[in-house]
Amino acid sequence: MTQHTDVVVVGGGQAGLAAGYHLRRQGLDFVVLDADAAPGGSWQHMWDSLHLFSPADHSSLPGRLMPAQPGETYPDAGHVVDYLTDYEKRYDLPVQHGARVDAVRRDAGHLLVEADTGTWRAKAVISVTGTWSRPFLPAVPGRSVFPGRQLHTVNYRSPADFAGQRVLVVGGGKSGAQIAADLALDGQADVTWVTQRPTRFLADDIDGRALFDVATARRRALDAGRTDTGGVASLGDIVAVPAVRAARDAGLLHVKPMFARLTATGVRWSDGSQSDADAIVWCTGFRPALSHLAPLNLRGSRGGIPTDGTRAVGEPRLHLLGYGDWTGPASATLIRVGRPAGDAVRHIAGQLSTGRILGA
Ligand code: FAD
Repeated sequence: MTQHTDVVVVGGGQAGLAAGYHLRRQGLDFVVLDADAAPGGSWQHMWDSLHLFSPADHSSLPGRLMPAQPGETYPDAGHVVDYLTDYEKRYDLPVQHGARVDAVRRDAGHLLVEADTGTWRAKAVISVTGTWSRPFLPAVPGRSVFPGRQLHTVNYRSPADFAGQRVLVVGGGKSGAQIAADLALDGQADVTWVTQRPTRFLADDIDGRALFDVATARRRALDAGRTDTGGVASLGDIVAVPAVRAARDAGLLHVKPMFARLTATGVRWSDGSQSDADAIVWCTGFRPALSHLAPLNLRGSRGGIPTDGTRAVGEPRLHLLGYGDWTGPASATLIRVGRPAGDAVRHIAGQLSTGRILGA
């Protein structure tokens, strides 16, 4: 049986909850369908030692400040899961966990949302499925001949899984730095950190807050129609969170430029020398999880979905949040998703009140 509602939110991580908060405030009828069995979005799947790169008071969703975690300046992932679980309850958000959306289709002026738990007919859809379920692995020669273990950031849990092994951590971003530091500080594995470009740490006295400031400046410039001030790339790639700083300062982070290929025993470097390895951890990023939107045929020439703010250019009933800067500066962070979520919901409410969203 098909159910009816104003808005279906696809995804119940932080971005889905921020959308839910604003939908509640607007008094719209909505449901949040979330594939995960429990609250917390991707935070519930992150590795054991992960900590935020900014303090709790800079990691809050709209309406409710994240409480500080006792003894930690930078909260851990478990603390974020607790916060999101509480947030969902506090605002009584209608989240259905364990509901995976397979397809969103056009249907006579509405959108039909097909989940494995049932079908919804909606006047608008907000897609907030994040990137965690689409890990990216680069095409590197020899990947199939390497007999050792290969895993992505999403499968890494703790150094205990690598005791006594020679491990290469590939990727010069925040995840690569933190996982290399985690293994190096633990000391049970022989770890080398491999990066495409020379590593670029942010200054030690600044953390994720500086990244948010850059995003704010960019947002203001764009809102005022001024020249784009650019993203955070100019500041550096890696926030020197305490564990990363400790490993770096103790000389435990052995960094090498990217290898040329994988071999039957390890890797060959570009100078022709070889190293044996038991495991490779690919910290090589993610892509937006958008396969449920494929029936709408919205992909642009570069693979992404073109948006005007959060609204899909090719489908006025669809908004996207999170994912990356293309849906709003830093909109894939805790503190910065609230603003585009509010914009999206206000836009939908306006469209619904004038009837313009149907049959557009
Ligand atoms: P997610 O948390 O991934 O939530 C998406 C939800 O959608 C999930 O619950 C999933 O089950 C659901 N879903 C997916 N597909 C479907 C489907 N087809 N149907 C139904 N449901 C579906 N940000 C910060 O602000 N501070 C930090 O310190 C920080 N550290 C980070 C560290 C790492 C390693 C990573 C990867 C990211 C970090 N981020 C940080 C960025 C960002 O805050 C997180 O990635 C965050 O989880 C994004 O939230 P989201 O709601 O967009 O996506």
